[in-house]
Amino acid sequence: MTKHLLVATRNQGKVAEISEILASLDVTWLSLDDVGVNYEVEESGKTFEENAILKVEFCARKTGLLTLADDSGLEVDALDGRPGVHTARFGGPGLTQKQRYQRLLESLSSVPWEQRTARFRCVVALARDQELLGTASGVCEGMIALKPAGMGGFGYDPIFYLPERNKTMAQLQPNEKHRISHRGRALAALASLLRAELSNQ
Ligand code: IMP
Repeated sequence: MTKHLLVATRNQGKVAEISEILASLDVTWLSLDDVGVNYEVEESGKTFEENAILKVEFCARKTGLLTLADDSGLEVDALDGRPGVHTARFGGPGLTQKQRYQRLLESLSSVPWEQRTARFRCVVALARDQELLGTASGVCEGMIALKPAGMGGFGYDPIFYLPERNKTMAQLQPNEKHRISHRGRALAALASLLRAELSNQ
């Protein structure tokens, strides 16, 4: 019997990465559009974990499907950890992803190299019907580059520099990104629970 797994996001970059990272699972991937859930859950939580739980519980309750949600973002030390849970809205409404990361570069224009440390964080959550089954988190440490580089990935990848690789996240091959990324690490930590739940379906 075909098993279904709903990814509770409209962010196509996230859907693509999650299904690539979990490519070994024998499931049919569903997006919110596939199941006709066409409105956003308000991300009113104060932490990535609260927001991941809000999203996963809402969508699992609405659809009755095994559902996976991801809440993620960037913490910049020179901005006291901002934008954090507000990363998707950094710079204000209606901006493109490129405009958002350019705003971030502008806000760090006077910050010297050694103070440009930052990290991506991701919390993933799994639920079915009314039940939250579990959460897992992942972190990827890096720095905010002085200028963008690379075409891969999505979002803030062109400005997220990995010192040990001397590349931005957008310059990595997808599999290389997934091995070290916040999302890859969070999903690796959730994988055994996910496999167990799929085998119960
Ligand atoms: P949310 O989890 O939907 O609230 O939004 C996450 C925000 O962080 C969006 O602006 C994403 O573009 C950004 N983001 C999350 N993960 C990544 C990543 O792997 N690379 C680049 N940007 C990311």
